Amino acid sequence: MKLIIHGGFFSESSTNQETKKAKQDALASIVTLGHEYLKTHTALETVVYTVALLEDNDLFNAGIGSQIQSDGKVRLSAALMDGKTEKFSGVINVEDVKNPVEIAQKLLTSDDRVLSGAGAQQFARTNGFEYFDPITAQRQSEYEAKLNQKNNKGTVGCVALDADGNLAAATSTGGKGFEIPCRVSDSATVAGNYANQHAGISCTGVGEDIVSGALAAKIVTRVTDGFSLKEATDKSFAELKAFDGFAGVVGITATGEVYHCDSHPYMVWASFDVNLQVFS
Ligand code: ASP
Repeated sequence: MKLIIHGGFFSESSTNQETKKAKQDALASIVTLGHEYLKTHTALETVVYTVALLEDNDLFNAGIGSQIQSDGKVRLSAALMDGKTEKFSGVINVEDVKNPVEIAQKLLTSDDRVLSGAGAQQFARTNGFEYFDPITAQRQSEYEAKLNQKNNKGTVGCVALDADGNLAAATSTGGKGFEIPCRVSDSATVAGNYANQHAGISCTGVGEDIVSGALAAKIVTRVTDGFSLKEATDKSFAELKAFDGFAGVVGITATGEVYHCDSHPYMVWASFDVNLQVFS
């Protein structure tokens, strides 16, 4: 059983040491809770549980505390992939919900598994997800001061390997901040979140770069074709250099290899294998 989570890159509002420590502490406690949960649940259930905890923590740019788009609205995106069945589900730019990863979970058993905007919100309401405004005072004042033009990356993600050897990945984001309304993040695409029976990957960084690099799907495919996770990830990151791609990933393979890589420093992540490890 292994679990790895990330809290994205630091946002502009959190470059101070105090917030860095708060993020590390939050990741440590959430990965510990997630690992405990994994003892009695599947990888799929665990990534949803763990990402929902990250969404509920306003230090991170997902769920509560998400970045605000240029028209003043928060639109959330999240995806889930079950490595066992190789099914992917997700929501893109859904408004006024608390835990988009749980809507993605609900969609996993639907014929239509990726929904956007009003359709995603309608699906959420029909399935009992109540109105919730994820804007925090901190994000509102950043938005008003137009402080967060760039470098605001605090997406969350989780990859789990369960006791039966199955993998799953989930990723959730509020996006880049100040983007054109309804701009699509990588997080609810196979570039940002992917898993099969060989590996699972969750990404963070500049969505456009991650999509251009087809990052998560490419790394998982390379592992499937025989690369180690480190080799697959390092090669895929080397390819990002062609367009100066900004990205970070966490991943686990079915053989138990756990790996993190980022193109720039300041990404926060934590893993729970035999011991807790927190890094940034
Ligand atoms: N990847 C996310 C996006 O571009 C942002 C992030 O990871 O912080 O929407």
